[in-house]
Amino acid sequence: MSRLIVISNRVSPPAEDGEASVGGLAMALSAALREYSGIWFGWSGRTVPEFTGQLSIERGAGVTVATVDLEEQDRDEYYNGYANRTLWPLFHYRIDLSAYERSFDQGYARVNARFADTVLPLVDPADFVWVHDYHLIPLGQELRRRGLKNRMGFFLHIHWPPRRLFATLPNHRELVQSLFDYDLVGFQTEDSLTAFQEYVVQSEGGVLHPDGTAEAFGRRIQLGSFPIGLDAEPFTAAANGESAAGWRERMRQSLAGRQMIMGVDRLDYSKGLEERFLAYEDYLRTTPEAQERVFLLQVATPSRGDVPAYQEIRARLDAVSGRINGAFATADWVPIRYVNRSYRRDELAGMYRAACIGLVTPLRDGMNLVAKEYVAAQDPTDPGVLVLSQFAGAAEQMGEALIVNPFSREEMSDAIRRGLSMSKAERVRRWESLMHGVQTQDVTAWRDAFVQALMHPPAVEAAEA
Ligand code: UDP
Repeated sequence: MSRLIVISNRVSPPAEDGEASVGGLAMALSAALREYSGIWFGWSGRTVPEFTGQLSIERGAGVTVATVDLEEQDRDEYYNGYANRTLWPLFHYRIDLSAYERSFDQGYARVNARFADTVLPLVDPADFVWVHDYHLIPLGQELRRRGLKNRMGFFLHIHWPPRRLFATLPNHRELVQSLFDYDLVGFQTEDSLTAFQEYVVQSEGGVLHPDGTAEAFGRRIQLGSFPIGLDAEPFTAAANGESAAGWRERMRQSLAGRQMIMGVDRLDYSKGLEERFLAYEDYLRTTPEAQERVFLLQVATPSRGDVPAYQEIRARLDAVSGRINGAFATADWVPIRYVNRSYRRDELAGMYRAACIGLVTPLRDGMNLVAKEYVAAQDPTDPGVLVLSQFAGAAEQMGEALIVNPFSREEMSDAIRRGLSMSKAERVRRWESLMHGVQTQDVTAWRDAFVQALMHPPAVEAAEA
């Protein structure tokens, strides 16, 4: 019997069905792994003095989880280095922050080879292999070098940059070539897919076929866009559950009749938090009657604190939020509640519902699930307004949000004003359309579409094989 082997940098604990506090991805993948009695393999998150390749295997909730420890140098060069200091900033248009260091390249290659060595004995000939995200782009190639013939798919959770930006990466061609060792490569959006296709055609002289395949480097592979969704049903249930109700009530009391605008993000320079604060400041300055009557709750969960650019953005946000609060606050009102901690998703669900505006304004984001969670958590009879960056992948599906350019302070400030004064009829109309999308294009639909494409190649390719 064919099984599904999922490989990602980190492995989430296997989730039971309907467990909304675990991320949607963990839930969807756990369900798929249960269905195909699969294995989820990744880094344990631990470091050891010397790499041994020793697997830790745990069986729980019908899923086998296999992990391996890495060396400290691996963590520094592969994870903090190439993944988070080279690829992440480049793929989010921040070549000014991208570090191109050979030791990072070597660490990335070494860990991908180590992953391949370690996972290889777990894979049977009939299994399907599904590799996730930018940490593991060359893993497929490493597995092929070791003789693996299985069908293999790769899904990129972040945005794929335009080819001229991508060309700033030393070895960019090798990285793309390694993707051609998969049978299927999936992206979050049409925009990312198109950017990748443009690279294949214009930089590599490749050919795109009408069946969605691309030919280059002597290989023909399937490409597609598979926008990831929310675990909509359990999340909506959580939003109607006890813990969310508790938070909703707690927020309602602390609102004291004020309107709340809410943002929830990892503390990352790609999320546009400084621009958001400045736009909100612009709104307060140009709308004096709103002062003391609204506030912004910004949850910014610290992330990747070992990387200098994250320490810098954190210090900047401390300074900007502090300055705005100092300038506008009164004895009983603070304009920005800036919170550097994390909440469970069921707790967030309660807060989202108490917010008149969900302010989701990344400068660049592969998808952005917070936008979808905000919609799923609303009261159908009196929903809030989603203000969404045109540069979040979610904007391709969520046209009924107020779409903004996060680089324009005035445009965001206008959208806040418009959202806070929008009629209930318009809010309901927009929300119904958004909610329909969130429910139908959920994480299960995403997973099934990818797994189907992986398991059932297009006819031409099958005939050639
Ligand atoms: N999240 C959370 N607790 C927090 C902040 C965020 O559980 O305190 C979750 C949030 O609900 C969402 C995810 O983290 O499911 C963030 O996903 P998104 O796609 O928005 O951004 P990413 O962090 O993957 O860049």
